[in-house]
Amino acid sequence: MNIQSLSVCVPAKRCINDCKFCCSKMHTADYKDNFTDICSYSYYSDDMRKRLTYARENGCNTCMLTGNNEPQQNKEFLRVFSEVNKTLPNPFLNIEMQTSGAFISPEFMDFFKNSVGLTTVAISVACLDDDASNRDMIRTRDDDLCLKDLCREIKKRNMNLRICLNMNDGILAHHSYTPESIVSLCRELEADQITFRALWSSEEDTDQGRWIAEHVTEKTTDFIKALKTDVKKVGKYLDTLEYGADRYDYYGFSVVVDEDSMSQGTNKTAVKYLILRPDGHLYSKWDSKASLIF
Ligand code: SF4
Repeated sequence: MNIQSLSVCVPAKRCINDCKFCCSKMHTADYKDNFTDICSYSYYSDDMRKRLTYARENGCNTCMLTGNNEPQQNKEFLRVFSEVNKTLPNPFLNIEMQTSGAFISPEFMDFFKNSVGLTTVAISVACLDDDASNRDMIRTRDDDLCLKDLCREIKKRNMNLRICLNMNDGILAHHSYTPESIVSLCRELEADQITFRALWSSEEDTDQGRWIAEHVTEKTTDFIKALKTDVKKVGKYLDTLEYGADRYDYYGFSVVVDEDSMSQGTNKTAVKYLILRPDGHLYSKWDSKASLIF
C-alpha cells in the first residue's frame, strides 16, 4: 500500500472558526467521538496504538494532526496521542499539524514542540497579505490572529513552516496575483514549503459551495494552470510522491500543487491517506464512511 500520510482527526464539539470554504461542513458524516464520550481511556488508547502501528507497518512516515475543527482545541487528546506514539515500536518522528493558528499562544507552541513532538506547522491561509481579510474569510473569533507573528513563533522554535494557500480570488489583497508575489511574501515569512490548494466543493447546495463558486473564478483557475506550467518550466523536479504527484524545487521552496485534497483520485492501487477518526477507527477516504479499514 502507498500511504502518503496518516491524518489524525482531533475531536472537538465545534470548530472555533467558521471558514467560508470549509470542506468539513460540506460533507456532514458524523463520527462518534469515542475519545470524549464512551470508551475508557485504556480501550481508546489501545485502539489508537493498533491503528498507528498499522500505518507505520505499511510504510507511512508522516502523521498530520487535523480534524473537523482546530487541533489546538483538544489538548488532552494531543497528550494521549503523544503518549501512545512514544510507545510504538517505531514512533512517528515526522508530526505535522494543520491549523489556521487561531488562539495559539507562545506557550501552546512550546507544548506542541516539546510535548507533542511537532516538526511541521502547516498554516492554512485564505488571504496572504492582509490579516483582517484572512480573519474575515476564516471567520475566526481570534481578533489578534496575525500571520507574521505566528510564523515568527514557529521559526523561533526551529520547526518547518508550510504555508497552505486556499486558492481563491482574494488570496492577495494588495499585491498582483502572480506566482512571484506569492513566493516573495512566503519568503518574507520564512516559509519552507508552499502548498497551493484547489478548494474542494461538494455537489450539494451549501453556503460553502456557493461561496467557492463566487470566489474561485477563472482568475484563480487560470492562475493555477499558469502556475503548474511555470513550476514545470523553471522549477527543478525533486521527486514523485507515493500517490503520483510531482514535487518541485520552485525558487527554493518545495512546491506541490494539490488538486485532489479530498483524495478522490481514481488510481485504484494507490492509497493516498489514512484517516484516524474520533471514533478510533481507520478510514481511507474523507467523504465516505464506507472506506473503513478497521
Ligand atoms: S478551521 Fe478547518 S474545520 Fe474549522 S471551519 Fe476552518 S476549514 Fe473548517
